[in-house]
Amino acid sequence: MQPIVLALAGNPNAGKTTLFNALTGARQHVGNYPGVTVERKEGEYRGNGFSAVIVDLPGTYSLTAYSEEEVVARDFLALEKPAAVINIVDAANLERNLYLTCQLLELKLPIVVALNMMDVARDRGMTIDVDKLATLLGVPVVPIIARSGQGLDRLMQTVKKVVEQPAAASDPDKIRISYGDDIDRILLDMTSRIREQGLLADKYPPRWVALKVIENDETLLGEIEERAPELAAELKSEADRVNDHLVKTYDTYSEAVIADHRYGFIKGILKRGVITHRYDENRLYTSDRIDKVLTNRFAGPVIMLGVLYTIYYVTFSLSALPVSWVESFFNGLSGLLNSSLPDGALKSLLISGIINGVGGVLGFIPLIMLMFFCIAIIEDSGYLARVSFMMDRIFRIFGLHGSSVMAYIVSGGIAGGCAVPGVMATRTLRSPKERMATLLTVPFMNCGAKLPILALLIGAFFADHRSLYMFGFTLLSWVIALVAAKILRLTVLRGAPTPFVMELPPYRFPTFKGLAIHTWERTWQYIKKAGTVILAISILLWAMMTYPGLPPDQAARFDRERNRIVEQYRGEKKELQLKMLESRREAAALRASAAGRLGVALEKVTWLCGFKWRTNIALIGGFAAKEVVVSTLGTAYSMGQVDTGDPVSLSRRLARDPDWNPLVALSTLLFMVFYAPCFVTVVCIARESGSWKWAFFSIAYSTTIAFLLALMVYQGGRLLGF
Ligand code: GDP
Ligand code: MG
Repeated sequence: MQPIVLALAGNPNAGKTTLFNALTGARQHVGNYPGVTVERKEGEYRGNGFSAVIVDLPGTYSLTAYSEEEVVARDFLALEKPAAVINIVDAANLERNLYLTCQLLELKLPIVVALNMMDVARDRGMTIDVDKLATLLGVPVVPIIARSGQGLDRLMQTVKKVVEQPAAASDPDKIRISYGDDIDRILLDMTSRIREQGLLADKYPPRWVALKVIENDETLLGEIEERAPELAAELKSEADRVNDHLVKTYDTYSEAVIADHRYGFIKGILKRGVITHRYDENRLYTSDRIDKVLTNRFAGPVIMLGVLYTIYYVTFSLSALPVSWVESFFNGLSGLLNSSLPDGALKSLLISGIINGVGGVLGFIPLIMLMFFCIAIIEDSGYLARVSFMMDRIFRIFGLHGSSVMAYIVSGGIAGGCAVPGVMATRTLRSPKERMATLLTVPFMNCGAKLPILALLIGAFFADHRSLYMFGFTLLSWVIALVAAKILRLTVLRGAPTPFVMELPPYRFPTFKGLAIHTWERTWQYIKKAGTVILAISILLWAMMTYPGLPPDQAARFDRERNRIVEQYRGEKKELQLKMLESRREAAALRASAAGRLGVALEKVTWLCGFKWRTNIALIGGFAAKEVVVSTLGTAYSMGQVDTGDPVSLSRRLARDPDWNPLVALSTLLFMVFYAPCFVTVVCIARESGSWKWAFFSIAYSTTIAFLLALMVYQGGRLLGF
């Protein structure tokens, strides 16, 4: 027997995840929707005498095709025709939440409304007449408190009834929203034509198709064009006509008129005594009172900086210890292999290729987790929405949206994030162009892997102004990212900003479970995506830096030298001499390797910015993972294993080397911070944008910007006589 499929739909933050977890417990399965990056969460419900598969749809405010989430949710409902939709609605924000409900009703799906957050509504002095709401909507409404599990049994009993007898229990036909005379008339006409031709009859109800055509829904129009090009053209021209008419008479578009009427419909329902306030309505709720302070024009930004700085501080100070544990574990593992395996390619591959590469990623996890935990706190409590709200005004200037701020922070906007989850955090952005502009510029942030290089070069050349330079580079990364986004929005991603009102959800006390889930979700994305790719890439990079190896005559020379040392010296002195020889040999081998040759060849261009071949090799390595830059520089300057040894001596070594001076260091830093994102990020950009074209564009765009910056600073500095 086919299992019964139920869909869980609702606005972001309505409590979907909480309800989903409460209903399915541990019986969950996470996958991806085919072809897109949106996660598909499924779980099994058993209880109340029936079992069903529940699919947790992505949280959406609407079913227009603005974002991937909305398209996924819509396609799922239309194609897989769930036996019932559990529409979770935040009782404390009924008006906004019912917008989605209206659209679900228009899709003529069997719906049960789960009226969540009844506790919050009660605390705010609201009483909701549930029966009246159910009557007015024409579907069953069950009050619940997902967090405590209250009402879930009744909810599922109701769902069972709807599944068994959809017609009797739920009557979506009952409501028919009027969209005003102009639209209603054309809607009627289009609906009957669509019904006659059976257009998309397998997927959507005819009236809904007509409505979407009038709303100018491009995804759907595309679908219609494929199936019935003639009808599509007719419908489109009718839609255009009514749109023109509305613009002339009301100065608004059909889309806006439709949205207005939907809200009007909801307001109408709510006004009919569904909600009564115990307190008088003008009273400030707790959230509003907190907002008076936290989003205050003057105090707000100061508090925001304080909060962000606290996250920065907590993340770095608390993670130091666990990071060092992971590091020493991998160092121990290297040491063990080093002493137990015979010298040769296998040993080198295991230690330099695999353990260094994977260890570099895993070593990072405590820090990342802690940072994501902090972000989950400000996100779940509702504060992040305030940060976005305050940043919105600034971001708009650069053609972005306030919600972009999240992606930048996760990527390292405060310092020490990772662009991989940052790229994924852009999913919350609804406008494709704003999203793409954010996606392409988040890698400019100072992710955690860039910090060691900043520390190394700043320590070597600008030690007297260490924190100033660190802070300067953080600030600069924001400036460059925003300007780069603006350039994109003026050229390849031109277009008007989406009219999307920022909303401020009420403040809530986060639960530990919720925080743990959110932290783990993001960390897991990082491990999964970074972990798999980084292994392949670090092996490739290892091969590039190892082969073809020293030419025979040079190798013979090193061997002769070695023999001489063995004969000439004794004891500690011998060890030291051999060690130095070994580093020199490694450096020579690196220069002779494929990466070394490429580095030398690149000098023809990079001399303009002051980079020598050794720096070039490190930058090539940095494309695989920015962590690699420091260790490669170490090898190139024959410092042996700096990553496990003593980075201070590398910085002293660089400070004395004729290749380097403060100007070169500055130009290198600029290039390093802004050039191509690491390979893993590039892969994620390709996946998130749906095409490799954008991934390559990202590499080219950022490398060009980095090169120009380094060029300007280096040549400018030379002119000024530094
Ligand atoms: P989602 O974005 O729809 O998945 O929402 P979540 O399930 O992550 O819930 C958002 C926040 O609301 C979390 O902090 C939950 O703990 C909280 N929450 C969920 N249901 C309830 C409820 O019934 N009452 C209260 N007070 N909080 C809830
Ligand atoms: Mg969720």
